[in-house]
Amino acid sequence: MTDKKEKQEKTIIIGSGPAGMSAALYAARANLEPLVLSGMELGGQVSVTHIVENYPGFPEGIEGPKLVENFQKQAERFGTKVEFDSATEVDLSTRPFRVKTWGNEYLAETLIITTGATPRHLDIPGEKEFTGRGVSYCATCDGHFFQGKDVIVVGGGDSALEEGLFLTRYVNSVKIIHRREELRAGAILQNRAFKNDKVEFIWNTVVTEIIGDGIVDTVKLKNVKTGNEEELKTDGVFIFIGHIPNTDLYEGQLELDENGYVQVDRFMQTSVPGVYAAGEVADSHFRQVITSAGMGAGAAMQAIHFLEDHS
Ligand code: NAP
Repeated sequence: MTDKKEKQEKTIIIGSGPAGMSAALYAARANLEPLVLSGMELGGQVSVTHIVENYPGFPEGIEGPKLVENFQKQAERFGTKVEFDSATEVDLSTRPFRVKTWGNEYLAETLIITTGATPRHLDIPGEKEFTGRGVSYCATCDGHFFQGKDVIVVGGGDSALEEGLFLTRYVNSVKIIHRREELRAGAILQNRAFKNDKVEFIWNTVVTEIIGDGIVDTVKLKNVKTGNEEELKTDGVFIFIGHIPNTDLYEGQLELDENGYVQVDRFMQTSVPGVYAAGEVADSHFRQVITSAGMGAGAAMQAIHFLEDHS
């Protein structure tokens, strides 16, 4: 890092999804004037969610971008500063912690990391083009739009089966396409899926292309054992092949689990005192707006106590 004069902050929150903005709200209400570094996408994954129907307080649901706007307004009302900037480097070896962004350098007495996780992509033709037009990474968010339709799910882990089973509430059929003939998912979910009449498995198969005209219509499949290729008509492609936590900046500085998620205790405390993590960057299990918001609020409450104890 350079010798440029750093700006001093009591709390910097890296990330602006539900966890980050909830942390900002709580920290701001304790007069910490937190700085939120929004990252590339203000609001994170919620900003690309059509409608959020499972966040309490909105009986008719709320559009993802509107919820993000509300989160921001509410946090700013109490003194949160939101910078449309991304952290590019952090140094957690001494406190105050150093945070470098595209535009500035900061010193932070406490840090709350809420950088989320990115759904792993198949990286096949059509995937990007049809995202939000039949391609989805969230059954809880989008399942409702597929009432009576036929969809495919890609993956063989707990998420693929759990979300595939969730989709059976709405859809006519779910074909789970897995690249092997053994599932990674746990036994209970496997049994439930095998027993469900709406669920069918296609083994040893990968999706090689997603085709449509405005919306998804067909997928190209390839059997990895025989090499056979075929086309399958479908209304939706739900992809659950894991998430990649956005933790590159913290590797070697914070304890991460074997999948790269930040390890926190139940107080959102990371392995470095004064550094907290909340939301999907530290949670591979729940991954909901409400759970992330709760973790964010908790992290801020702990940061407030930490500053009281270390002032
Ligand atoms: P995961 O366990 O890593 O499973 C990912 C699945 O996607 C695997 O079956 C994998 O195939 C497949 N896959 C990966 N890359 C692929 C590609 N490029 N093309 C095709 N298939 C691909 O991820 P997850 O299911 O999201 O689960 C993440 C963690 O959360 C796990 O620890 C899981 O137990 C936990 N979780 C728990 C629950 C629950 O307990 N109810 C629910 C959801 C998640 P291979 O099997 O061949 O590697």
